[in-house]
Amino acid sequence: MDNVRVRFAPSPTGPLHMGGVRTALYNYLFAKKHNGTFILRVEDTDQTRFVEGAEAYILDALQWCGIEPDEGVGYGGEFGPYRQSERKGMYREYAEQLVAEDKAYYAFDTPEELEAMRERMKKAGVPSPQYNAVTREHMKNALVLSEEEVQKRIAAGDKYVIRMKMPRNEEVKFEDAIRGWVVVNTANLDDKVLFKSDGMPTYHLANIVDDHAMQITHVIRGEEWLPSAPMHVLLYQYFGW
Ligand code: GLU
Repeated sequence: MDNVRVRFAPSPTGPLHMGGVRTALYNYLFAKKHNGTFILRVEDTDQTRFVEGAEAYILDALQWCGIEPDEGVGYGGEFGPYRQSERKGMYREYAEQLVAEDKAYYAFDTPEELEAMRERMKKAGVPSPQYNAVTREHMKNALVLSEEEVQKRIAAGDKYVIRMKMPRNEEVKFEDAIRGWVVVNTANLDDKVLFKSDGMPTYHLANIVDDHAMQITHVIRGEEWLPSAPMHVLLYQYFGW
């Protein structure tokens, strides 16, 4: 337990709620107990959910609660910037690295095409259709289109996202301090978007890149994120971290 580094990573999508304060408190206490560092990182890559003034509210609220970061937005530190929108330039490179290694791919599907796929799958008896190892075979992505077609689309300025290529049937295993061993088969995970058409990373990519870059030793987050953890573990494996 040397050099413990933990982070509270709220998205400025509204005021800080009690669940957030609780997560911040657990991180803070864990850092204090181990003489570690408590970091505040602002995850503001979702431009559609950005709320003006939310970040200042979160900072004020933490201060009011006496849960003060050692490092982060408003506090400085050697791993900054701590606001993801200011780190924007570095994420694309990571997404492209995965594309080059065949662990991610460009996808050009429009919202209408995605919706049509979901409808088709539902009619075929799949209750919650996903973009995955099976359905991606029938979509407009670089795994299906020719290299020439892909280049043509990019040159023409067609919108695309970068999706993670999920293995079809593999077990991902990790140890959660509260739940114990969690095992999930990749057949239940979809090809999540890592990089969006607006030039921003999704939460998943930015979060794991920054946890790595900021040398986070323990991830303490709300339980609603447990279903995303297997995917994050796979991303760590893809990057070799
Ligand atoms: N930005 C995420 C949130 O607001 C962070 C979750 C995490 O700690 O990974 O919930």
